[in-house]
This record gives sequence, C-alpha cells and structure tokens, in this order.
Amino acid sequence: MHENTLLSALAASTEDRIVFDLTGIEESYRSLLRELPDVSVRFAMKACPVDEVLACLGNQGSGVDAASLHEITQAIGSGIPRERIHYGNTVKSDHDIAAAHRLGIRDFATDSLEDVRAIASHAAGSRVFCRLATDGDGALWGLSKKFGCSAADAVAVLETARAAGLEPAGLSVHVGSQQMTADAWRRAFEQLTDVIGELDRRGIALRHVNLGGGLPALGYLDKRGAPLEPPVDKIFTVIREGMQQCRDAAGKDLDFVMEPGRYLVADHGAIRARVSRLTVRHTPDGERQNWLYLSCGKFNGLYEMDELQYRLVFPTHGDHPDDPFVLATVAGPTCDSDDAYSRAHSLVRVPEALASGDPVWVLSSGAYAVSYMTQGFNGFSPLPFTCVRSTEGGR
Ligand SMILES: *Cc1c(COP(=O)(O)O)cnc(C)c1O
Repeated sequence: MHENTLLSALAASTEDRIVFDLTGIEESYRSLLRELPDVSVRFAMKACPVDEVLACLGNQGSGVDAASLHEITQAIGSGIPRERIHYGNTVKSDHDIAAAHRLGIRDFATDSLEDVRAIASHAAGSRVFCRLATDGDGALWGLSKKFGCSAADAVAVLETARAAGLEPAGLSVHVGSQQMTADAWRRAFEQLTDVIGELDRRGIALRHVNLGGGLPALGYLDKRGAPLEPPVDKIFTVIREGMQQCRDAAGKDLDFVMEPGRYLVADHGAIRARVSRLTVRHTPDGERQNWLYLSCGKFNGLYEMDELQYRLVFPTHGDHPDDPFVLATVAGPTCDSDDAYSRAHSLVRVPEALASGDPVWVLSSGAYAVSYMTQGFNGFSPLPFTCVRSTEGGR
C-alpha cells in the first residue's frame, strides 16, 4: 500500500542504505489488532532495534520484548513505558536481572528453576512467564532446543516462583520464526491448554498467555525463488480459536500478549544497494556459472539470505520478458561463502546488461537487518538507515 513511499525513498538515495516506512509499520500494527483485538503487542525489538521504529510502535500503544539490558535501555530511551517492556530472554545473569529490576522492569520470561530462583533473589515480587518448548516444525527458523521447557518443568518452575514470592503470571510459547503452518499454532495451543489445566488443579490461576512471535512476513521468496505465501488468514483463525480454548481451560478470561518481530517490520523495510559485478566463471569440471555480487549481503543487511530470497529490483533496467537475461547466483561482497543465496536451490533471473555500480533494491528486508549487521567484517560497513512516512498521512 505504502510501497510507493518506500520505493520513492530508495529511488532518491544515491548511497547504499536501508529505508523503513513508518506508515507501513503502523499499518501492520493496526492490521494485527484488527485480526486479534484482544492481544497486547510487545514488539520483539531485536527484529528492528531502530529508535524511530520503537517510538512509532510505542505511540500506537505497543510495548516491547527486550532481550538484554541494552535493549531495555534503548526501549526506555525511545519512550516505551516501563510497564510495557518485558525481559523476554530466558538467558540472563544475576547482574542482568538485578539491573533490569532497578530500571523498573517487572515482567520476566523464564524456563528453568535456576533462572526463576535468580529472579526471586534479584527481582523480588516480579511477574514470571514460563516458556514452553515447541518443536519449531514448519518454521524457517525453529528456535527449538535452546529455549523452553516441558509441561512438567513448567509446573515446577511456576510452583517454585509462587513459593519464592514471585507472581506466577503466565505461560509463553514461540512457534518458530517465519512459521509457515497454522498447524504449529494448533499444537502450541494444545500444549498451553494442557498446562493451564494442570496448573489450575494445583491452585495456580494464570492471568496471562504470551503467544510469542512467529507471525510471517508476506513478501519473501523461498530458496527456490518462489513466493513463500504463508497462510496468514488460517493462522489468525487458529490463533483466535486457540485463545478461546485457553480461556475455556482456565475457566475465565485471560490477558493475551504477543511478541511479533518480523511480521511488523519485514515488508516495510528495503535496501538500496549496488551491483558490484556480474561475472561468469567455470568450475573445474566445466560448469558455467553466473554470479551476481551485490554491495550488501549476509553481514550488512541480508543476514537471512542463505535461507530465503529477497525480491530484487534493478531500477535502471527494464523487466520486459524479452530483455536479455542470465541466471545467476546472488551473493554479497565478503569472502565468506555463506554470504550468498543458496546455490543448490535456484538461480535468479537478472538483466544481462547489469554493470558495476548499477543500483539494486532489495525488498522485504526490514526484519533482522539492522540487528545482524556486523561492524565492518571484511571492511564492509553496516548500512546507514532512514525512516520515511507516507505523505498521505497514513490513516
Ligand atoms: C525473536 C523473538 C520473537 C520474535 O520472533 P519473530 O519470528 O520475528 O516474530 C518473539 N519472542 C521472542 C522471545 C523472541 O526471541
């Protein structure tokens, strides 16, 4: 909708940069609340830790899911009220917990007895959310294994929390990032309702359920270059049904929280980069390969490029089907061989006449771009960023 704002900003730029369309981000926020009106949003700020983006979402009523002291401090500095900031990382030291508590943070995610005891010691009286492990199947990035615990552990963690003077406030899940199936959500709600029932039998009545992130961006291509087309309508239907199942299991209304990252920002950010060079090389066994090297790649904006493809636009070349083209592997500028689209899966059709220095636009690259940029790996600088707004005013 506001794609034009973004494309005009890319066209106006003569330097490499990443541009965020704040109007588009606000629209995603509002469309999420239209789909799930009963949910409080805590933007997973690691997906786009940019002050203007945090302030823009904060003005809409969003809070943030922060993963470190630095993120908490940035969120406070961007004007997010402390009661809307939660410490959503299950991995934290005693020092981190105490410092977050001193900053006024009262909501903590946890998934182990060790961590919950540390929260009781260093953030007395706080609210804790216990994260249940999910299988992560159906997601591009599963987030399984490292986080979350079993149903039995969750019961033990929340009972320990209660005994230690914390408020056993809720359960949380994360179905995996860029989750492509509604079924993963269905399985997560089955886990949630089971544990809610068990906790109820033990006299722990939860108030909150945190549904985590995982909502998909719409504009990516898969490794083969085909549109990913996640079933968002079905996903929202399953989430609405699942929320009702949780209320039924609890025998009362619950407060639902969601921590979308990618969904809010991915399609509203785009990169203006340049063609470094289009080359032809032959492998030792004689295979002819075309490679398109760009000025940005895995370490300056396209961290996820080995798992998906971004739509590319070459604004100084036509895209008429009769224009001469070559099939190339797209790669970034560094000496790392992961800094490329997955060659095993597909080649990208690019204009044969591409010359070094020609601009290229990389669409739907707004999530996990700024946060994963390295400070000069191989001497390539992180991209500067700009935030733009639609001139129509955004309503
Ligand atoms: C990364 C993360 C999110 C956001 O995930 P998306 O897939 O980008 O929506 C939400 N919650 C937690 C705890 C996370 O670690």
